[in-house]
Order: sequence, then structure tokens, then C-alpha cells
Amino acid sequence: MDEQQSIYDVLIIGAGAAGLTSGIYCSRKKLKNAIITLDIGGQTNLTNHIENYPGAGAQPGPELMQKFADEARRFGTEFIMAQVNKLEKREKGDFAISTTDGKQYFTRSVILAFGAMPKLLGIPGEDKFFGRGISTCTTCDAPFFKGKATAVVGGGNSAVEGALELSKIASKVFLIHRRGDFRADPVTVDKLRNAPNVELVLDSEVKEVLGEKKVSGIRVSNNKTNAAREIQIDGLFIEIGHIVKTEFLRPLVKTNEKNEVITDLGNRTNIPGIFAAGDITIIPFKQTVISAGEGAKAALECYKYLTGGKVDTQDWT
Ligand code: NDP
Repeated sequence: MDEQQSIYDVLIIGAGAAGLTSGIYCSRKKLKNAIITLDIGGQTNLTNHIENYPGAGAQPGPELMQKFADEARRFGTEFIMAQVNKLEKREKGDFAISTTDGKQYFTRSVILAFGAMPKLLGIPGEDKFFGRGISTCTTCDAPFFKGKATAVVGGGNSAVEGALELSKIASKVFLIHRRGDFRADPVTVDKLRNAPNVELVLDSEVKEVLGEKKVSGIRVSNNKTNAAREIQIDGLFIEIGHIVKTEFLRPLVKTNEKNEVITDLGNRTNIPGIFAAGDITIIPFKQTVISAGEGAKAALECYKYLTGGKVDTQDWT
């Protein structure tokens, strides 16, 4: 097969909600497309129970993502299980994507959708109890802790809003933050301070997660006094931000100070022909439903780009 025959219309990098939805939309537009990915499902796989994806009912995150993948495959999306480590623009205007297994793929356009990873604490017990009392998404998993004792780690909006949400469901919420000042909006912090079942554990870090088969407690140490304390809890929410690994895209694709890909309202990056969708981008609210919508938008804009359609959305970069 010569290169011209093997060239894709679109290569999508990443198979979370954004990438899989892009695949469905690209296939339905009859674009020759493939998703290059290491895993299928992305961050939605990390939740045992997703019940805020409208119309889909409550189910484990991996199950919902498997349905996305089955649908993409059924419509014609190809899956290439590999890790991308290089994206280059070629002189003729198309793109070359290299993978760590030494292969190279050529494409007329690209959709970046390889998401973000929740930051973890790197402490003993964290791996063992992940999904067994430890979650990185309060919005997704708070309802499982009705009437239970819980803790949230972090001092940003995610942690503080998460703790507030939990306080309406759980019997007790400990908010553990490594400093005395919060990054979160002061108005939200005030609300948290006034919640009767919330205890702020400030200037403190979680050193270990305790338990047998699931979380039963945490060991916390005060940064200023070194005083150690054990807190009995059933659930631990780690809300300390996300990491986006976009270093290999530079200097071609513009990213912000958090490494997120800068896009406009049409999911376009600074490079014509390269689009981005989902948690990898500057779009706020890291939610499955939002990523799916963004993936659809990116695919439709990409179709417009490939077919010479008029671009009618407004730039906001
Ligand atoms: P942020 O980066 O804002 O906050 C992360 C928090 O986690 C910080 O308080 C940080 O502590 C703490 N932290 C980071 N690493 C560690 C660690 N290793 N151990 C202990 N603590 C740690 O992340 P968020 O996810 O909260 O928010 C991301 C962005 O999304 C922000 O811009 C936020 O405003 C926005 N957001 C907006 C919402 C809204 O508008 N409703 C809702 C949720 C998020 P330290 O402060 O000491 O650095």
C-alpha cells in the first residue's frame, strides 16, 4: 500500500469520552479515522458508578465507556493500541504521528483527546484502596457515602466544593489541607466553615490510608507541630488537581501554564488541522458528559476543515 492510500483523514489520540465520541462522529461522516490509545475509557473508568450521564442510567464507568467504544467500532473507527510520542506537521500540510513501538502514521488532521490524570498523593495505601473507599471525583462518588464519615484532601475549588457537596450526604466530612489558606473562592470556603458536620484539618497532610479490605481510616500529620492523628473514615476523596501530559506536542501546539491545550470555541488549536477536546483542553468542568460533547464538536469542526467548509465560530484565544 502506498502512503497516499494509507493516510487517514483523522487520527484521534486518546479513547476517553472525548476521543471515542470524536470517533463516532468522524465515522458517521465517513472519514477514514482511527483512535490511537493505550487504554479505552480514560478517566471515566476510574468511577465505579456513574449516574450523571443523562439518559444512560446508573452503571459502572467502564461499562459506559465500553458502550462508547463498541459504538465507535460499529460505525467504523479503527483502534490502534499504542502510545504516541511525537506529532509533526509535514511540508505537504498533513501530519505524522509516531508511537513508542517505532511506528509512524500519516493523517490529514488530528484530534487530541488524551485527557488528564488526577493527581495522587503517592502515600502508602493509596493504590491498594483506590476504588475501595478512595475516589478522585467527589461529584461522581459522593452519593455512595450517605451517612458515612469521609475526608477530602485539597484546598482548591474542587476540594472545597466537593466537601460541601459531601457534607449534605455524609455524616461527617474532614477537609484536610496542607496549608492554612485556601485557593478556593472565599465565599465557598465560608460556606464550608459554616457547615455543622465539617471539620477543617489545616496545615496537615495525609501520610497513610488505613484499612483491611477497604478504607477504614487515615493517618494525618500536622506540618507545623508534627503531631500525628488517626481519623476513622469510610471514604477518602483526593481532589488535588490534575496533570496534563502534553509536553511532546511542544513547540507545535500551544498550551497554557497548566499544560492544557489552548482551543477556541470550535475546538481548534493554533495549528490548522489539529483539534482538541475534553480534559486535555482549557475547557472548565472535567465531566464525562462535557468531554463527550466536546469530542462531537471537535469531529464536526474537523469535518468542516477537511471538506473546505466555512468556519463560522468565533475565536476566543
Ligand atoms: P487547584 O490546583 O486549584 O488546587 C489543588 C489543591 O490541592 C491546592 O489547594 C493544593 O495545595 C492541593 N495540593 C496539590 N498537590 C497536593 C499534594 N501533593 N498534597 C496535598 N495537597 C495538594 O485544583 P482544583 O482541582 O481544585 O481546581 C482546578 C481549577 O478548576 C481551578 O482553577 C479551580 O478554580 C477550577 N474549578 C472551578 C470550579 C468552579 O468554578 N465551580 C469547581 C472546581 C474547580 P496548595 O494550595 O498548597 O498548593
